[in-house]
Amino acid sequence: MLYLKTDEEIGLLKESNMLVSKTLAEVARHIRPGVTTLYLDEIAETFIRDHSAVPAFKGYSGFPNTLCTSVNDEVVHGIPSNYVLKDGDIISVDCGATLNGWVGDSAFTFAVGEIKEEIRRLLVFTRASLEEGVKAAIAGNRIGDVSNAVQSKAESGGYSVVRELVGHGIGKKMHEPPEVPNFGKKGTGPKIEKGLVICIEPMINLGSKETLQMSDGWTIKTADGKPSAHFEYAVAVNKGKADVLTTFEFIEEVLNKL
Ligand code: MG
Ligand code: MG
Repeated sequence: MLYLKTDEEIGLLKESNMLVSKTLAEVARHIRPGVTTLYLDEIAETFIRDHSAVPAFKGYSGFPNTLCTSVNDEVVHGIPSNYVLKDGDIISVDCGATLNGWVGDSAFTFAVGEIKEEIRRLLVFTRASLEEGVKAAIAGNRIGDVSNAVQSKAESGGYSVVRELVGHGIGKKMHEPPEVPNFGKKGTGPKIEKGLVICIEPMINLGSKETLQMSDGWTIKTADGKPSAHFEYAVAVNKGKADVLTTFEFIEEVLNKL
């Protein structure tokens, strides 16, 4: 059973997702060689609480922090730590916040200083695969159409799609049905209708698709040690064109000023 939201509920989800968008931009202001991932986590938690919201990840199944910070070969669910970012790293920052009872969830992968061209291209394709997924998230399609759009774009660049982790419905809970895989066949899976709100979040590897779970119980890494990228939007399915409830514009403003 998929929970379709009213326009009013989608408005509330937009507010929580916009707060997450702004939180990621605030984090972006502080990303540079020499800062720790734990410092970024503190920035995010303070920003969220200053805006009358609550970090959605903190305490979720026991996760200890506000952000998931996943560096280089870490795919997702990295725990903020005393790791010091260095020139040439990439860092996926995944953030969730609950505002007025509705959850926002978004992720962006940042370059730290100057990164290699092959990694820059991975980021470009991962973000483009998210945009292709959004284009397929229209009423009357199926989840498999979204999944296939993401997969096709990522693989057209020579990259591989992580299988073990998927996108999801979102609402008052961070994870609602349906699952939104980043791989799949067109015309398969649940039908999507106006009012369904889903997080599309490609996790795309430079090398092979295989991953490993680290002993901290959270961090997922690529099995071959090559970099992985991750971008995430929340989108409300609509007729003709999805409403993206997230924006990377605030992040772009910060990055363009650096
Ligand atoms: Mg997320
Ligand atoms: Mg998510």
